[in-house]
Amino acid sequence: MNAQNPSGWRPCMGDAANGENSEATSSGDRGLMLEEPLSFEIGSPDKYGVDFDEPETAPLASLAGHLRAEAPDLPGLTEPETVRHYTRLSRQNYGIDLGPFPLGSCTMKHNPRLNEKVARLAGFADIHPLQPQDTVTGAIEVIEQLGDWLVTLSGMDSVAMSPKAGAHGELCGLLCIRAAHEARGEPRETVLVPESAHGTNPATAAFAGYKVESIPATVDGRVDLEALKARLGPDIAGVMITNPNTCGLFEPDMKAIGDAVHEAGGYVYCDGANFNAIVGKVRPGDLAIDAMHINLHKTFSTPHGGGGPGSGPVVLSEALAPFAPLPVVQREDDGSVRLIEEEQAGVALPQTFGRMTAFHGQMGMFTRALTYILSHGADGLRQVAEDAVLNANYVLRTCEDVLDAPFGASGPCMHEALFSDKGLPEGFSTLDIAKGLIDEGFHPMTVYFPLVVHGAMLVEPTETESKAGLDRFVTSLRSVASRARDGDESLRSAPHFAPRRRLDETRAARKPVLVWRGMEE
Ligand SMILES: *Cc1c(COP(=O)(O)O)cnc(C)c1O
Repeated sequence: MNAQNPSGWRPCMGDAANGENSEATSSGDRGLMLEEPLSFEIGSPDKYGVDFDEPETAPLASLAGHLRAEAPDLPGLTEPETVRHYTRLSRQNYGIDLGPFPLGSCTMKHNPRLNEKVARLAGFADIHPLQPQDTVTGAIEVIEQLGDWLVTLSGMDSVAMSPKAGAHGELCGLLCIRAAHEARGEPRETVLVPESAHGTNPATAAFAGYKVESIPATVDGRVDLEALKARLGPDIAGVMITNPNTCGLFEPDMKAIGDAVHEAGGYVYCDGANFNAIVGKVRPGDLAIDAMHINLHKTFSTPHGGGGPGSGPVVLSEALAPFAPLPVVQREDDGSVRLIEEEQAGVALPQTFGRMTAFHGQMGMFTRALTYILSHGADGLRQVAEDAVLNANYVLRTCEDVLDAPFGASGPCMHEALFSDKGLPEGFSTLDIAKGLIDEGFHPMTVYFPLVVHGAMLVEPTETESKAGLDRFVTSLRSVASRARDGDESLRSAPHFAPRRRLDETRAARKPVLVWRGMEE
């Protein structure tokens, strides 16, 4: 606590605290850029936001042994302090409602407010998963209709709705594959994952107990078909292929890969998190794919980020459908829908591998995704893919003269544009470009992923950015890239205008500070 700050409000830890900025203020705030300490640093146990009545009776005797001896060390704040605390913190955040969020592989598109309106209808928002089925038939109908759209859009046989994220969907698909091999009496132990796959693929395969082997990428950023074929055999349970892949490219050999894998008795898992690029244009079911997750929180515009809820339904081929997890939604002959739980599974889904979640999945995400699909219609969804691909190619072609585009010669990209650090002068890196973008008022792109490219920068503008919005972004990206090429030293310490200067990200991840100041004393 310093003399200027008797209340414990600490000055800005950016420029001012480092003594780097002669324009530091006494409050630590700069203009409308407001600092905010931890609630533990401004709160005290004697402050309250609400007044509770004194209890009329003494605590129950049976609880006596369980009562804590000391009050918990929680910060007390008044109501206005609480509101300001969180509002101030929220202003330090960056979100899709503030500007483009060009994180490659994340599909951070605008979430139409109509989705929210529908998800908040009491009939969806206020129901409970343990209610008797006949009181929630509307909700079950939403799950069925959404599943039906996903099956139609993907051209697959059926869908498992319960997985709660893309990676969870991958696990679901691999558990189906395992169950299928076991049902055939020939368990297999290895899963092949190309270099151009998303990082969750090898992680999921390992988590599911498989040995993971990598398949190289060709020089043009695609799966090496011959290398893959050469490795197929009776120990290979399947392959996991990201399509469009993490280089932002479509895998044109998908059908040939699938046929070869099937011939060798394996199954094909397709990571469909990037479905945004091909929705309405390509049906994965036509490409010899057996299982694919679809991230509702990407393609179908349900909010994500900050660890928020995800939803990764998995579409399945006829070969894997019998092994899908419970519960499943079934439409009866009379047109009604019902959720099949354990009790009825022996009849409806005798070979199910089991359950992945306590209930049926992320209901709020289902409602939002179906709203999004119905409001776009089949033609609107096709346009989503077309515009997403157009926007990414716009970024690729307007920046490839200032940033190296390693696969620029491989033809048009899909929904994301990939650049590398090749050609940046000695001492300048991808990180400098990302931090420079923060000063320009943009959230950086995905950096250092995919690993097939050195110093990767993966930009996914999504279809919801306008031409004017893209031009603003491209102007900033070009400006930052040009500063790096010109050796502008100030870029190496960017950001200069953000609430914090460049952080030691390794230390922040490896040695996070999990105590507050009062606790250290
Ligand atoms: C986002 C993503 C995943 C993982 O999805 P989560 O919902 O974050 O688990 C997997 N693969 C690809 C290609 C992705 O873009």
